[in-house]
Amino acid sequence: MGLIYTGAKCRDCYRCVRICNLKAIRINSSDKGKLHAQVMDELCVHCGQCILACPQEAKKPVSDLKQVKKLLAEGKPVTAMVAASFVSALPLKDPRILPALLKELGFAKVQETSTGAGLVTEKYLALGFRKPMLVSYCPVIVNLIELHYPELIPLLAPIVSPMIAHGLVIKSHDPEATVVYIGPCAAKRDEARLLDQQNVVDYFLGFNELWEMVEEKKIAVDRLSTSDFDDFSPCQGRIYPVEGGMVWTVAQELREAGESFITMSGLDSCLEFIQHLSKNEITNPPKLMELWACKGGCVNGPLSLCREESLFMRQRRLLEYYSAYGAECNEPKPLNLNLSRSFKNRKINLPLPTEEEIKAILAKTGKVTPAQEFNCGNCGYNSCRDKAVAVFQGKAELEMCIPYMRKRAESVSNLVMAAMPNGIIVINKNLDIIEINPAAEKLFNCSASSVVGQRILAVLPASNFLKVIQSGEMLNLTGSYPELGIVTKEIIFPVKKTDVVVGIFIDVTVDKRQQEQYDLIKSQTIQQAQEVIEKQMMVAQEIAGLLGEATAETKVQLSKLIKLMRQETS
Ligand code: SF4
Ligand code: SF4
Ligand code: SF4
Repeated sequence: MGLIYTGAKCRDCYRCVRICNLKAIRINSSDKGKLHAQVMDELCVHCGQCILACPQEAKKPVSDLKQVKKLLAEGKPVTAMVAASFVSALPLKDPRILPALLKELGFAKVQETSTGAGLVTEKYLALGFRKPMLVSYCPVIVNLIELHYPELIPLLAPIVSPMIAHGLVIKSHDPEATVVYIGPCAAKRDEARLLDQQNVVDYFLGFNELWEMVEEKKIAVDRLSTSDFDDFSPCQGRIYPVEGGMVWTVAQELREAGESFITMSGLDSCLEFIQHLSKNEITNPPKLMELWACKGGCVNGPLSLCREESLFMRQRRLLEYYSAYGAECNEPKPLNLNLSRSFKNRKINLPLPTEEEIKAILAKTGKVTPAQEFNCGNCGYNSCRDKAVAVFQGKAELEMCIPYMRKRAESVSNLVMAAMPNGIIVINKNLDIIEINPAAEKLFNCSASSVVGQRILAVLPASNFLKVIQSGEMLNLTGSYPELGIVTKEIIFPVKKTDVVVGIFIDVTVDKRQQEQYDLIKSQTIQQAQEVIEKQMMVAQEIAGLLGEATAETKVQLSKLIKLMRQETS
């Protein structure tokens, strides 16, 4: 499994596809047993934007929360390395209560990840600014280049991130230490794995998961005392989580060298810049290029809390913390640590369709002329052609095209409406006719073109529809329209969660006539039977006493028969 998975709550809204700059999400409903909207690890840069965007909270990063809780419950000595962005990412009145808070949760030691930043900056300075260099702190930017623009690998600074450097410091002091990184980043977990440095950081928690633990333990956060972090007090590195922070720490050296720099944040802006670089469209690229996938820097990482606050306020909190404590320096002695790293070309080449193949896919969704390519973006792709390419590559499905599906649904429902032998009239709550099918046109002797948009009264009395609108209940009744010479069985019902009421009209005029005919025959039979009785009674009176019981029995039987027939008629 990759770093980000899709849970059962996914409703195929394609929002994550829309938001994903790399279109690294596959929708495939024929993938039996698998859920939709799967992240494609071979394309995903782990920016975490789909986690934030999913309205169903169906996208989740892989979690170590259970394991960390278990370690702490067992009383194992665990060191927390906390990303410097905690200042803006956690709802703490005073950032200096964090060490006490983590110790309350059971961590033995609490250090700031920016401890590694100072060591890493030294390495950058040692490289000098002789050639253009892309800062390799942000694992998403590194993923972007390794997976999609490997031609730019030579520009990446071959230096580990502050997290790895800090992990190496902790393990060099205590190789048995269990280290848990706590931060805002969804990509950090993979950074250690890809570098083959899994043992440097053992577990990963998002700030959101840390807060889950705090709430679960019902810790009265505001009662905790402030204190220093353990062992080290990083100074300059505390400003790294804000875009431009790294450049700030080497500004003097850059100035002295007379070299240019650029800072940029937000994956879309970084992507544009990287595309320019990759096409050699930037002459004399700056010597230092600080790129962050999250807009504004790590202060805005996807696993941060406090996201309801403006980015400006969160950045300001961090800058205030830096101003207050940035000079408190107690950094690790330069150890003989290997802080260099290399990069891999991990690009996979997905097959590309020919123009003919694109046209064939477009045609399957009814797009045979450019005007039929609406480029509405509902499927998550920027254009119908982009989506056709994704269909070819097995990342998207034809059915993701909403206008096509709507048209298809409409044509199916039109077919059903047209083929129905019974009349159907659909109205809205204002009693306006929305639809009327051919059977209803015939039954009520009207034409759709003249009555659609008119009040129902233009076709038949409104009273029954009105009753259904007012009561919200279904009506089942018989209607008689003498002026049209028809009798109908009618079912009128509201469509739940809409303003629509549907009436179904079954023509029972012929049945009614047959019933009337039958009733006529019955009443004639009764009349004849009555005449027989009356005649019998007359005879009985004349020869009374001679026929006795036999006549009385005949009368009783015939009277019963008449009664029965009357009951049936009524
Ligand atoms: S955003 Fe993606 S994962 Fe979330 S419900 Fe929509 S399609 Fe599913
Ligand atoms: S993490 Fe980023 S790159 Fe990966 S699927 Fe989500 S939005 Fe796309
Ligand atoms: S900017 Fe920071 S939080 Fe965001 S992806 Fe990069 S390293 Fe992670």
